[in-house]
Amino acid sequence: MSQSCIDTLRSMRIVVLGAGPAGLALTRLLHQRGITPLVLDRDRGPEAPTQSGSLDLTEEGGLRVISALGLDEEFSRLARPEGQTFQILDADARVHLALGRNDFDSARPEIDRADLRRLLLNNVADDTVQWNTTVTAITAASSGGYRIECVDRDAVPADVVVACDGIGSRARPLVTSIRPAYCGVTFLQAQITHPQVGSFIAAHVGDGAMFALGDNKAIMGQRNSDGSIRLYIALRTARDPARSQGERFSDTTALRNQLHQTFDGWHPHLLDLLDQIDDGFAYWPLYTMPETQTWATHHDLTMLGDAAHVMPPFSGQGVNMALLDALDLVEALDAPQHHTRDDAFAAYEATMLTRMQSAIAEANTGMNHLISPDGPAPLLALYGRTAQ
Ligand SMILES: Cc1cc2nc3c(=O)[nH]c(=O)nc-3n(C[C@H](O)[C@H](O)[C@H](O)COP(=O)(O)OP(=O)(O)OC[C@H]3O[C@@H](n4cnc5c(N)ncnc54)[C@H](O)[C@@H]3O)c2cc1C
Repeated sequence: MSQSCIDTLRSMRIVVLGAGPAGLALTRLLHQRGITPLVLDRDRGPEAPTQSGSLDLTEEGGLRVISALGLDEEFSRLARPEGQTFQILDADARVHLALGRNDFDSARPEIDRADLRRLLLNNVADDTVQWNTTVTAITAASSGGYRIECVDRDAVPADVVVACDGIGSRARPLVTSIRPAYCGVTFLQAQITHPQVGSFIAAHVGDGAMFALGDNKAIMGQRNSDGSIRLYIALRTARDPARSQGERFSDTTALRNQLHQTFDGWHPHLLDLLDQIDDGFAYWPLYTMPETQTWATHHDLTMLGDAAHVMPPFSGQGVNMALLDALDLVEALDAPQHHTRDDAFAAYEATMLTRMQSAIAEANTGMNHLISPDGPAPLLALYGRTAQ
């Protein structure tokens, strides 16, 4: 009997760049098939702070992958179905729409990003992920395969590289010259660790989320499983070249003052939130890829998740797409009609790039619905409502 592509991987050095949702889902799917890749991640450990708090998984996206991994039960212990509830407000703090748990046709349970990482890491051997390992470059090795250059450690040899290293992927330049483009909106991410019961923010976020929208700006809150509320302050602004993604602001007083000016005229309850923030501010400029991307499949190297298709997070699909990529790749490697790994990679990439055309378009449109000069009106229109 001829070997399937997945069988050929058993004797190869497979290196997965990044232990985010895409990298860890792939690792577990390979594990199920008796294959153990090496995962490299720059985070200092699995508990390192993450780029966002809560993520919602869709039935046709992330939940399908959770099922394929046999993790339904563990997932439901960690997930918060009530997290999909939300309210839409305007800058005067008037509520225009409040959707409760029974108002949705399909489930989109929320899970904390840190819990999702723990769930995917559970039962994966400790030495599968090498933390604290920052990849700087991938080069073709003279003996075949790749050399993965890292900070403060010897280069790691690989026969096959799967890049799940997010927006700044070190493997991407080998595959395509298309770069992520700043999409004109920046998030300032912050946190209210112990929101007072009955306070404005606690009441409007509830178990889910609140979107206060106006004048091309937004203040959005999202409940986490520990009761804290993650705030995203969204502004249409030029990218600050002096700052890096995820960087924390040291002078929070100056930033708070500046935000008070930026949101001048908004309802005092919304302005108060700026003073209730007790856990820093992090800088998240948002990026997107073109809706249509094509590239020639690179030998024994491919990309999953944000590395392939970062997009603004306004449709809540980034993590779902990242998880689906892992499943699609493994299914392509499993499929008997693909005779070589490169055939399987090409089939996976065709599926993924086609799927991403509408996903990226939807995310970009979602951004324009939320961050609009017309406040909540465009978002409300999607729900058949008009702003009163
Ligand atoms: C502020 C914010 C809020 C978001 N909210 C949502 C949401 O609510 N819902 C949703 O679906 N999506 C959301 N997203 C998008 C979502 O986070 C991503 O689409 C998803 O995490 C992609 O998963 P990934 O595994 O491809 O990449 P990532 O999650 O970015 O993981 C990449 C991994 O690679 C590692 N890495 C990166 N570079 C290197 C390197 N050079 N060397 C070694 N390791 C490296 C990182 O440490 C990380 O662990 C949000 C994004 C942001 C920025």
